[in-house]
Amino acid sequence: MEGGPSRPRSVNPMEDIEHIEKPLKLIDENGIRLDGRKFDELRPVRIEAGVLKKADGSAYLEWGNNKVLAAVYGPREAHPRHLQNPTKALVQCRYNMAPFSVTDRKRPGPDRRSVEISKVISEAFAAVVFAEQFPRTSVDIFIEVLQADAGTRCAGLTAASVALADAGIPMRDLVTACASGKIGGRVVLDLNKDEDNFGDADCPMAIVPRTGEIVLLQMDGHLSLDEFDEAMNLSIGAARRIYEIQRDALRRRYAPSAEAALAAAAVEAQAPPPPMEAPPPPPPEDPDVMREVDDL
Ligand code: ADP
Repeated sequence: MEGGPSRPRSVNPMEDIEHIEKPLKLIDENGIRLDGRKFDELRPVRIEAGVLKKADGSAYLEWGNNKVLAAVYGPREAHPRHLQNPTKALVQCRYNMAPFSVTDRKRPGPDRRSVEISKVISEAFAAVVFAEQFPRTSVDIFIEVLQADAGTRCAGLTAASVALADAGIPMRDLVTACASGKIGGRVVLDLNKDEDNFGDADCPMAIVPRTGEIVLLQMDGHLSLDEFDEAMNLSIGAARRIYEIQRDALRRRYAPSAEAALAAAAVEAQAPPPPMEAPPPPPPEDPDVMREVDDL
């Protein structure tokens, strides 16, 4: 054997996968989370309706670091034709995550996760769209996740709901989604990516705010019955706030045209009446006739 005692191998913190991947504490003793939010605080949500010219309806949504685009076509003739339902429209959603939406490039195209999310979102909208009014047609919803930071199915569904309204699809109400879950043993609202990765549970849901009906409910992880109740209360409260943001986006989209129509009507009402038609000019006098009259 050569040399003295072997030196302990120095550990490069960047090699310590556990250390770099797992944030130590997702929520501190004061109830403040890693991104500074309180347990019941939602990430900022911003929605814009009617952002695409070629689609029948569209919306762009930012929810924290999530960025989502939704487009709606239809009702239009369903293809392939053997899928047509003679009694109602098909409500079909395709959820897709762009390859550049996550830190490591995501393999393009559908995978099990996107097929599952597309299915649960289609079913949520099938519960509110008046599909019986459009037999043999399809209402096609496309959700493109441009940037993902957990909660993308809720963000996508919330954006798609605004896009459906923008397309003028008759619905019982908008649908609004939000997730709650558990991190560090506490129930919290709207998990971000770190919280989703290292938390204990995530429970996305979607609601029809006007009726309180739940049209999507999923759970990843474990919650006790009390924790589940608490999570649902947080999500329902947040969904009601997001509902107002959805309605506001639609108001902003249609208010300018409604205002313009009202202004045009007001201008028309105030305008002076059009001038009366002038009487026709008298026919020119015929000098010969006048002479004849004088001769009488
Ligand atoms: P949701 O986005 O609705 O919370 P998940 O819980 O399945 O759905 O995913 C949580 C997050 O994990 C996503 O928002 C995204 O940031 C990330 N993620 C999901 N799928 C992939 C993937 N294939 N590659 C990289 N990151 C992914």
